[in-house]
Amino acid sequence: MPPQGWTAPRLCALLLGVTGLLASGSDFQHHRYDDMVRALFAVQSQCPYVARVYSIGRSAEGRHLYVLEFSDNPGIHEALEPEFKYVGNMHGNEVLGRELLIKLSQFLCDEYQARNQRVTRLIHDTRIHILPSMNPDGYEVAARQGPELNGYLVGRGNAREIDLNRNFPDLNALMYYYEKTNGRNHHLPLPDNWELQVEPETLAVIKWMQNYNFVLSANLHGGAVVANYPFDKSRDPRFRGRTTYAATPDDKIFRKLARTYSYAHGWMHKGWNCGDFFNEGITNGASWYSLSKGMQDFNYLYTNCFEITLELSCDKFPAESALPREWLGNREALVSYLEQVHHGIKGMVYDENNNPISKAEISVAGINHDVTSGVDGDYFRLLLPGTYTVKASAPGYLPSASTVTVGPAEATFIFYPLRHASLQPMFLGKHKRSTVGRPTCPRVWTLSWQRY
Ligand SMILES: [Zn+2]
Repeated sequence: MPPQGWTAPRLCALLLGVTGLLASGSDFQHHRYDDMVRALFAVQSQCPYVARVYSIGRSAEGRHLYVLEFSDNPGIHEALEPEFKYVGNMHGNEVLGRELLIKLSQFLCDEYQARNQRVTRLIHDTRIHILPSMNPDGYEVAARQGPELNGYLVGRGNAREIDLNRNFPDLNALMYYYEKTNGRNHHLPLPDNWELQVEPETLAVIKWMQNYNFVLSANLHGGAVVANYPFDKSRDPRFRGRTTYAATPDDKIFRKLARTYSYAHGWMHKGWNCGDFFNEGITNGASWYSLSKGMQDFNYLYTNCFEITLELSCDKFPAESALPREWLGNREALVSYLEQVHHGIKGMVYDENNNPISKAEISVAGINHDVTSGVDGDYFRLLLPGTYTVKASAPGYLPSASTVTVGPAEATFIFYPLRHASLQPMFLGKHKRSTVGRPTCPRVWTLSWQRY
């Protein structure tokens, strides 16, 4: 079944299609490292008011990991504006994602200049971060071989031949233990000396996640055509090697996110691709094959970010001649998926003096995974349409709860003023009713177009 709101994106797809085809006359090619860097800086030069290139660190061989950011205020987090990221080419020999993300960057810039309403709105309301290559060293190894001669594994790992999608700290084991013991359900602690146990590329990406409050993400791979959602790691070690579905507490949302991509993609949703069948073009990671230390599970367990893994091509290193068709097959999906960052609820948590409260926990009854507010006190919680009981809490404050209805369109605003617990009267007269422990009343907005 297609995700909700299917008709509107379909119409928008037509609109994107007209201008996109005009722009698709530009050259499609594989970009070696220097070409890619030039392409990213060219977008920044073309759209300096909405695009900015920055580096999150260097690869093992010293290549910069460049990110292109799109925002109406590049370089600045604006409260209540969600942060989104796309990561390509973490396996150096899986190159379609890298080319699609370079193309997407050019497309967003061109369409912004052409005053495409949908793209303009996206850039004004979202902070978009695009890392076309997380593994530039591996790419160069694979590209030296070229599309025809490319072996299945040549260039997959980084310069030290480490698979970066098996290189993140393993937080699943701890999560699965906490599930049984009612422990923490979000932002699990990193192991001691984790910095020494990861590759430079992984280190750079983890620091990136620490510095930006990402809400939604996808990492782009190749070798199959399917949208894969967490968990990647099986819950029961006895069943490793066999297929067992490992659902997150946000399983329904992840399935919807994956379906958003597969149905907006030219052929992913049809299911039969590359000799494999995936119903609706989506799969739970562990039910396909279990893996440890992957990036998508880490996003969910260590940060506020929901990430899925997109497998986009049967051929890991497609010929240049295949790129225009791939772009047309993925363009609408890339934009539709990005728009998902605006669903659910969002708002601010602040104290009685209007000071923002960061790291406040936002809990949704029935979903055992909290998210936290960022440094500006703003929070984002992806949710499917429905009615929820949501609670905000922070150490030293009285918690505040409310019932909120989420519609299919833009996020519903809920603001949480929290009162210091110490400001509550400790000793009350006989006839006064205690207000200790009574939640303060949050303000709920349902006007989704409102901007702050
Ligand atoms: Zn891969």
